[in-house]
Amino acid sequence: MRTLIKNIKSLVQVEEGTARRSRVYGKEMAILPVIDHAWLLIEDGLIHSFGPMLTIPESLAAEREIDATGRLVLPSWCDSHTHLVFAAPREQEFVDRINGMNYAEIAARGGGILNSAKRLNETEESELFDQSIKRLHQVIDQGTGAIEIKSGYGLCLEGELKMLRVIRRLKEQSPIPIKPSFLAAHAFPPEFKENHQGYIDSIINDMLPAVAGEGLADYMDAFCEQGFFSVDETAALLEAGLKYGLKPKIHANQLHRSGGVQVGVKYNAISVDHLESMGTEEIDALRNSNTIPTLLPGAAFFLAMHYQPARLLIDAGLPVAL
Ligand SMILES: [Zn+2]
Repeated sequence: MRTLIKNIKSLVQVEEGTARRSRVYGKEMAILPVIDHAWLLIEDGLIHSFGPMLTIPESLAAEREIDATGRLVLPSWCDSHTHLVFAAPREQEFVDRINGMNYAEIAARGGGILNSAKRLNETEESELFDQSIKRLHQVIDQGTGAIEIKSGYGLCLEGELKMLRVIRRLKEQSPIPIKPSFLAAHAFPPEFKENHQGYIDSIINDMLPAVAGEGLADYMDAFCEQGFFSVDETAALLEAGLKYGLKPKIHANQLHRSGGVQVGVKYNAISVDHLESMGTEEIDALRNSNTIPTLLPGAAFFLAMHYQPARLLIDAGLPVAL
């Protein structure tokens, strides 16, 4: 099956041969290669060839032709940080925020992640899957072409496995690639509020072997933050994940300069995500590392927090993912 898109106003993000960049840093992020007035041929779901309209072969024929006059053609989004599987939305927390409570206060009162965990553990796996696949198709319809999905609302062996098995089923039925992350270290469940080591032991000794045994996750995630997981606790978790081949990829510096960026870089995390709270030490740590700073402006918007310092990172010569 061949599809030919013709008369494209701008074909965006075209990189070929030696000019092709695998990673883009700092100032180079402003360079966006574009071919104006272009054509693109797709064969069996893969890009076959493309170029300016002047170069379109006369004999080129396709079963399906699309006239893209006045339109752009661009790559789909790669969404590297999602919590797409969840049991219930948390709109009550918008009301709490309007009434003046902040994120930490809502979390301390049992809202936030713990509220999501309670609802998730009350929901059947099949129901969770049915809700999640609808959301997956919604984000695909909005242009997402690859997605990471986290666990982290189970906060116990059974709940985390339930989430990750739902993600595996999504992966089996999804038309786009899905990467699962294991995020039991999202919050301390109430029964471990005063016994952090007990929960960490449970993640390392009970959950990780089961998750790895079923091959349910590619990445090891943790919420490194004051009131959540300390730098030392995060380090222990990342180290344990690495033993099972799970690459580190963490939540860092959302509410405070928690040391999350530094511990992520130390364990060669593929990304440190959030980064609302950044300073010189964090930027220095990211220089000369392979860790990608990943900004989540949607989270800052919905939590009514200030946005992440994207310009500061780009001016420091760093790559930035959104
Ligand atoms: Zn997150």
